[in-house]
Amino acid sequence: AKVLVTGANGFLALHVVQQLLEQGYFVRGTVRSAAKGEWIKNKFPAFSSKLEYVIVEDITKEGAFDEAIKGMDAVLHTASPVPDNFAGNYDTIYVPAVKGTTSIFNSLKGSTTVKRVVFTSSFVAMMEPHESGYHYTEADWNNNASTLIKKSPNDLPGVMIYLAAKTDAEHIAWDFYNEHKGQVQWDLVTLNPPYIWGPMLQDEPNFSSNLVYRLAFEEKPEDKVGQHAGSWIDVRDTAKAHVLSLQKEKAGGERFLIAGGAFKWQDIYNELQTLNIPEIPKGVRDDDPYDIIDTSKATRILGLEYITLGKSVRDSIKVQLARKSQK
Ligand code: NDP
Repeated sequence: AKVLVTGANGFLALHVVQQLLEQGYFVRGTVRSAAKGEWIKNKFPAFSSKLEYVIVEDITKEGAFDEAIKGMDAVLHTASPVPDNFAGNYDTIYVPAVKGTTSIFNSLKGSTTVKRVVFTSSFVAMMEPHESGYHYTEADWNNNASTLIKKSPNDLPGVMIYLAAKTDAEHIAWDFYNEHKGQVQWDLVTLNPPYIWGPMLQDEPNFSSNLVYRLAFEEKPEDKVGQHAGSWIDVRDTAKAHVLSLQKEKAGGERFLIAGGAFKWQDIYNELQTLNIPEIPKGVRDDDPYDIIDTSKATRILGLEYITLGKSVRDSIKVQLARKSQK
C-alpha cells in the first residue's frame, strides 16, 4: 500500500517512515524544501525505490495537498509546529496547525483512493486543568484552551496557543469527517500521545527529543522536581501506533489515548542513574501524585505495547551523546 506522511522529516515522522518502509509500504513524504527531501532519501538508502518526497512549501494554502494525496491509499498527517519551549504566537503556532488541517481535509474530500486518514493529535488536546491524579480517557477534550484562544488569540502564552492549536485542529478533523463520512471513502483515526521521547533519527533534536537531555545535563533537579509532570511515550511506540492505525480495521472512526504511562520528573533522574554518568544529578524528593492515563482502548483495539520509561530515557540520552561526540 502507498502511504502519504506529512512533515516527513520530523522527529516522530522519521520513525513512522522507517517502520512503514521496513514493513514493505511505499512512502511519499511531504517536506518544505528539496534539501529536506534529499536528506530523507539519503537517510534510507536501502529503500530508494519505495520512498519519494514532494515539496509542500505552505501547508496552509488551499489545495496545498491536492497533488500530494494523488494515488495514495492512506494519509498520516503529522505536520504541525512543535516550537522549542513553545515559543511562538498565534500566527506561527495556531494558524499552521489549524489551517494545515483544514487544507489537507479539503484535499481529501475528492480522493477516490485514500481509505484511511490518521491524524496526529496530542494529549494536550485532552488536558484541561485538573487536580493531579486525574483519570484521563478519550472522553476528555481541552475545552479550556479552545475557549481561551477564541477570547484572546493574541494575548496568550505560547504553551496555551499550542494546546489550543492541537485541540482545535483535532476538532476540525472530527467535524470534517462527521460531516463528510457519507461521501468519502476513507475513515479517520486520531492519536493523542503525550511528551514523546526516545532515540532521534534526525541530526538536531527538536523540543521533545531534547527534553530528557536538558533535564540530565542542563537543568537542576530543583528546577523541575515536584512540579506536576504528566505522561510520556517513546517515539518508537508512537510511530508503531500510527502504523497499527493503518492496519487495524476496527480503529476506523476512533480516537486513541496512547502513552507509556504517567511520570514524575524524579523518575527520570532515577532511571538515568544506571548509565553511570557522574554529571547526571541524583535528584531530590518528589511527592507529586501521578495522573491516571487510561490507555486500555489502544491496548484493546490497536494491540499497542510500550517500551519502559527507563529504556526510553536512556536511549534518548545515548543517541544524543553519540551525536555530540561525532561533531
Ligand atoms: P517536529 O518539530 O520534529 O516535526 C514537525 C514536522 O512538522 C516537521 O516536518 C516540520 O517541518 C513540520 N512543520 C512544523 N511547522 C510547520 C509549518 N508551519 N508548516 C509546514 N510544516 C510544518 O515535531 P514532532 O515530530 O515532535 O511532532 C510531530 C507531530 O506530533 C506534531 O503534530 C505534534 O503536534 C505531535 N505531537 C508531538 C509531541 C511531542 O512531544 N513531540 C507530543 C504530542 C503530539 P520543518 O522541519 O520544515 O519545520
